[in-house]
Amino acid sequence: MRDRLIYINGRWVDSRHRAGIDVLNPATEGVIGVAAAGSAGDVDGAVRAASAAFPAWSALPVAERANYLRAIGDGLERRRADVAALITSEVGTPLTVSQRIQAGLPVADFRNSADLALEIEWAVEVGNSLVSAEPLGVIGAITPWNYPLHQIAAKVSAALAAGCTIVVKPSELAPLNALLLAEVADEAGLPPGVLNIVPGDRVTGEALVEHELVDAVSFTGSLVTGRRISELAARAPKRVLLELGGKSACILLNDLSADTERQALDDTVKSCLLNSGQTCTALTRLIVPRERVEPVLESVCTLMDRYPAGDPMDPDTKLGPVVSREQYDTVLAHIESAVDDGARLVHGGVERFAHLTHGYYVRPTALLAPDNSVPIAQDEVFGPVLTVLAHDGEPDAVRIANDSVYGLSGAVWGEDRDHAVAVARRIRSGHIDICGGRFNPIAPFGGMKRSGFGRELGRHGIEEYLQTKSLQR
Ligand code: NAD
Repeated sequence: MRDRLIYINGRWVDSRHRAGIDVLNPATEGVIGVAAAGSAGDVDGAVRAASAAFPAWSALPVAERANYLRAIGDGLERRRADVAALITSEVGTPLTVSQRIQAGLPVADFRNSADLALEIEWAVEVGNSLVSAEPLGVIGAITPWNYPLHQIAAKVSAALAAGCTIVVKPSELAPLNALLLAEVADEAGLPPGVLNIVPGDRVTGEALVEHELVDAVSFTGSLVTGRRISELAARAPKRVLLELGGKSACILLNDLSADTERQALDDTVKSCLLNSGQTCTALTRLIVPRERVEPVLESVCTLMDRYPAGDPMDPDTKLGPVVSREQYDTVLAHIESAVDDGARLVHGGVERFAHLTHGYYVRPTALLAPDNSVPIAQDEVFGPVLTVLAHDGEPDAVRIANDSVYGLSGAVWGEDRDHAVAVARRIRSGHIDICGGRFNPIAPFGGMKRSGFGRELGRHGIEEYLQTKSLQR
């Protein structure tokens, strides 16, 4: 393992200025590695390398940049088993889920960006002007821990496809997978300085945002940090892309058949418990016709019982721990105050599992909220906690769904699909699944309202790293 190392300008260097950060396995609470805590000096070296690499990288024909991205995708595919095991030990995601999502999505991100870069309109005629799409320059990328390599791969692959160079500061909770990506990029022959990785904490992140040679910042993480990063970036000013939190609603319309209702509940519980609820798009508010509340609660309890908690390396485990002691305490505090605020605890709760003596495990929890105004219906919990709410017909369901500062994701289930689409169009969210529509890794992804702005993935994700230039002739 590359303890305390930083990848700058195609070389592995030691961070000499600050003590390292222990990386813990949330299932065992044991230390699995020590990451560098990048200093402002380390960030400066990385940004200068990215700036020096920019002219040559941005001038490369797009097909050549795409070839590098494909080679990185192929390298990650070869290391897929290592990536899955590493992220399971850093984050606690059950191994079977890690193999599919944590290790699978980054491969797709690099391959998709390679293909879609060739579809960008790099120049168009507008009257007497030639309007070209130009890379933004040096990107500072700051990422969270929940889908750590996918979040890095979405940014790196799109920025590099656009012709930008990049410095990544991964989350201090799951930084080791980012170093594995640097190894793969190195083996793929990526020119030095195009991709630089500086592990660290908020000190490292703020140094990156404030660096004068960073042209734009791409951030995924919490609303609080997004606000701080926006403030720092505004001083320059420089462009920011923000992918923040969510409190996404799943609406069950009144016309659902028993069969479709079963599918809808299965899908919602799966979404809510995926990665122990630590998914920004998790469906965490289930909005159901008032007369269906009691039978729905009963079904939710049965479904939640089908998620055995245990060692995430065990292929039978469906629920791993949450990522850290701090996250564990936060999730339990949310559950406790929900009950104090009048919510009814219908499944789970704050008690530890008797069979798990170590690790930050939280029981799959369902609460019936008195209405949408209570904190458990408004705050992002980021744990395996579902809030059920009653609606009194479609306009009320839409009102409740929109009664949130967030607008990242959502779902609508109805017997009439076209009508469900019409309802979905009235919800202010960037991403809504109709009757179980599956995740599409080339559709634009991002939020409305306080869930942020800018889009990642697919062609739209590459365009986020471009700006126009007009040449009059
Ligand atoms: P976080 O905001 O605590 O940290 C995210 C990153 O920001 C980390 O790398 C951290 O070191 C860095 N950071 C913290 N303070 C900083 C500062 N002042 N300046 C610069 N960098 C700073 O978030 P987290 O706990 O890692 O992740 C969970 C959050 O991320 C949740 O709110 C979740 O909804 C959100 N998220 C959003 C998406 C999305 O695409 N919309 C995806 C995943 C996670």
